[in-house]
Amino acid sequence: MPETKVVLTEKDLPTHWYNIQADLPSPLPPVIHPGTRQPIGPADLAPLFPMELIKQEMTQERWVEIPEPVRDMYRLWRPSPLYRAHRLERALRTPARIYYKWEGVSPAGSHKPNTAVAQAYYNKQEGVRRITTETGAGQWGSALAFACNAFGLESKVYMVKVSYDQKPYRRIMMETWGGTVVPSPSRETRAGRAILAKDPDSPGSLGIAISEAVEEAATREDTKYSLGSVLNHVLMHQTVIGLEAKKQFEILGEYPDILVGCVGGGSSFAGFTFPFIQDKLSGKAKGLRIVAVEPMACPTLTKGKYLYDFGDTAGTTPLIKMYTLGHSFIPAPIHAGGLRYHGMGPLVCALYDQKVIEAVALHQNPVFEAAVQFARSEGIVPAPEPSHGIRVVIDEAIRCRERGERKIIAFVLCGHGHFDLSSYQRYLAGQLEDFELPQSAIDEALSLVPKTP
Ligand SMILES: *Cc1c(COP(=O)(O)O)cnc(C)c1O
Repeated sequence: MPETKVVLTEKDLPTHWYNIQADLPSPLPPVIHPGTRQPIGPADLAPLFPMELIKQEMTQERWVEIPEPVRDMYRLWRPSPLYRAHRLERALRTPARIYYKWEGVSPAGSHKPNTAVAQAYYNKQEGVRRITTETGAGQWGSALAFACNAFGLESKVYMVKVSYDQKPYRRIMMETWGGTVVPSPSRETRAGRAILAKDPDSPGSLGIAISEAVEEAATREDTKYSLGSVLNHVLMHQTVIGLEAKKQFEILGEYPDILVGCVGGGSSFAGFTFPFIQDKLSGKAKGLRIVAVEPMACPTLTKGKYLYDFGDTAGTTPLIKMYTLGHSFIPAPIHAGGLRYHGMGPLVCALYDQKVIEAVALHQNPVFEAAVQFARSEGIVPAPEPSHGIRVVIDEAIRCRERGERKIIAFVLCGHGHFDLSSYQRYLAGQLEDFELPQSAIDEALSLVPKTP
């Protein structure tokens, strides 16, 4: 029996992050100031982010060194294992080989601490005392609370009110790590008070929570703001996933044919695939297929447009060229909370636009069917987000069975589903709805995207 997992030692921890900007066929379009319509510079971002992260956002250097204190924190759970899904292969009777990179071994249970730790470190280095952020169901907020605690920073998390009330466990995790969690909209910011004046029972939204977290950071000298996906530096920090996976495939003496990952803002997908995409761009892995998977209820890549749009719902951030459903778009309440974002990381968008990667959109019932099949064969209960990837992996493996092909398929299992069991409950009870976004809703939200030359 060939081995079940490839485990690296701490000596194999990557020393540098990989910056795909150095290898793009053409450079990223600039980020635009919404007032002047000119490209923004470092000074525009300085109230919100420490200078080192602003530099990393824009750098064209291929490799960026990982500071030793960050690597030391990574050692708590990294390198993460690469598993061969023997039992799933047998259940599917497929000649394909299926691998998954398991990121649920981090303290917060997902890939998100890979960037949270780095961001907390650079803030600490530059004398910042507090970090604000927003969170939906709490995956990003818990990663940031964990990282801030590790580097002696305060964290303040604006949590969408409906989740704050209905999903207490991630909030309790954040508080256990010393974070302060407030339901958003709150009375603590001008933005929050304005919403509450109009609608005292507002359930909140990610867009409102972003506005509150950004306002607090912009108006306090000792406080900066942090984002858990989308931005270039966040995607770069996640490349430790793919760099380790490449080493693990080298040890196996294999190279994948198909890579799969879910996309919300694109950070786990990018972290896993970008180091392999380097090979594809350089011509070393020409046949490699890379598939991004999104929910049918929020089909950013497959049905959005490649335009300049705001990053937040309120329309206060700089304008970013990305695939977007329109910043005013509010997705249906599907269970993969981490995939409900109107935009997408600009690096992922550029690669999709240049046809380096593919994208598919799925309904949530077939996704949960795949999640349950995975749990019953491999044991791990996956989060709803990466289960989108599992659906595609299973379908590809079945195609391999039908065609007698021995492809090597790999995906990033970016988090466990231990806090998503109410979604499983609904699926198992046959109560999960499939939402397909009508084209008219997309057209309407896209009509509100600002016109840029
Ligand atoms: C946050 C999150 C996502 C979505 O974000 P990406 O930046 O696209 O990775 C997906 N899966 C899990 C487990 C998450 O926590």
